Amino acid sequence: MTSDAEQDPFRSYLGRPDGLPADRSHAGQTATVIGGAMAGLAAAHALNVLGYETTLYERQAYDTKRVNCGEAMTDVSSIPLAKTPENGFVNHTPEFEVQVFTGDTGERRLAGSGVFPSEHGYITDRNLVERAWARELDANGVDVRENTGISKADFARLCAESDLVVDATGQPALTSKVDGTTTEYSGRMTAINADVTGDFSHIYPRSVILFENYLGYSWVFPKTPDRANVGIGWAEDKLPDDYMAAFENACERNDWPVPERGAANIYTIPRGPSLDPSRVYDPDRSIVRVGDAAGIANRFTGKGISQAVESSYLMASLAARDDLASYPQQLYSRMRSEYRLAYVVRGALEDGRPDILGDVMDAVSGIDVEAVDRDPRQAFGRLLRRPGLLARLATNRTMVGRLYRAYTDQWEYTRTPAPQ
Ligand SMILES: Cc1cc2nc3c(=O)[nH]c(=O)nc-3n(C[C@H](O)[C@H](O)[C@H](O)COP(=O)(O)OP(=O)(O)OC[C@H]3O[C@@H](n4cnc5c(N)ncnc54)[C@H](O)[C@@H]3O)c2cc1C
Repeated sequence: MTSDAEQDPFRSYLGRPDGLPADRSHAGQTATVIGGAMAGLAAAHALNVLGYETTLYERQAYDTKRVNCGEAMTDVSSIPLAKTPENGFVNHTPEFEVQVFTGDTGERRLAGSGVFPSEHGYITDRNLVERAWARELDANGVDVRENTGISKADFARLCAESDLVVDATGQPALTSKVDGTTTEYSGRMTAINADVTGDFSHIYPRSVILFENYLGYSWVFPKTPDRANVGIGWAEDKLPDDYMAAFENACERNDWPVPERGAANIYTIPRGPSLDPSRVYDPDRSIVRVGDAAGIANRFTGKGISQAVESSYLMASLAARDDLASYPQQLYSRMRSEYRLAYVVRGALEDGRPDILGDVMDAVSGIDVEAVDRDPRQAFGRLLRRPGLLARLATNRTMVGRLYRAYTDQWEYTRTPAPQ
């Protein structure tokens, strides 16, 4: 980690015009962070900067932790680690190419594509990133308790003992399990992936994502010219009968090495925005949810790491001002444009319109991959400059309906009322 305060990403985040609490402003207060992946590590880092006596619980041991998912980090500038291979940052990928095909059979055609530059993007060995970050936190005063899963009974005790409890346990969150509300998330994707070896020199250092006209996508993220993470994911309402067979087929048709069955990992990704925003903060128990626990992964891509880190930094910046009550609304406001774009574009996928999706990719091509999420106005602006595409969108009932629902905030949950 850099010792230069100016370069610490959380301090930079605090430096935004919306507030600048002093370092260690909360010395003497205790914070418990449950879940030590990207969201939890970011929360522990930020709360430690603020002076909270911070304890981080992670149920796995970092030396053996198997994450092997979410390895494309599109904004590593928010992570206070040197971007070295030893810290897991293995490929500073210059761009993500998105290819849209008309189907997933031999007759498929390329319907369109886009190239998204990646100024701060890396393909990582995420287990190494997490391990390095946890070690840094430990060295900087956070009490890191790895290999320590928090049970429901522990949770009640920790809530009673701590000034602040951060639930960073992914989806469904431990809080939902304790409360018996694990169905409160509105949806998820299922993904299967594996690290494989082979010749990726024709792709490396680029990264490629493929839409093939099913409700999901596949990817190849090269880590080196001869090692890559490959995977495929589907929305839960359109899952294949045999995940592994579908994964193997995707590898074969895209000319990627077919992984051993034992090497594949299956995970779920929240289909964000998937949780009523008002659920992300419980003032009575001082519990706040960040990352996947808050259900904020991208609705179209499933991407959730930069979202997870941002939610933690936002949460901590509000805790610093004793204003956690506004966290649900502020998180929602920050994410709303991204939700809108992802929700609308996803319509083309759900409607089986690779022609529209391909043209959308072509229209937004060239925007930084992280900016597509963080500043979707750029993408909407590009769409507005394509009258032909706009005309097709305007005559497509699904897309028009989605646009309307996106702009009237009619998601799967009720819109959060503004804080009183
Ligand atoms: C296959 C796949 C590929 C993906 N690819 C990308 C990608 O390329 N880029 C991207 O940005 N996003 C990607 N995502 C999404 C991304 O992985 C998630 O959004 C991100 O991991 C969210 O981080 P998190 O810290 O909130 O939760 P998680 O990563 O789910 O971490 C939760 C942590 O909490 C711990 N935990 C859980 N319960 C307890 C407990 N009771 N006690 C203690 N610890 C506990 C877990 O061990 C885990 O370490 C992908 C997801 C999947 C499934």
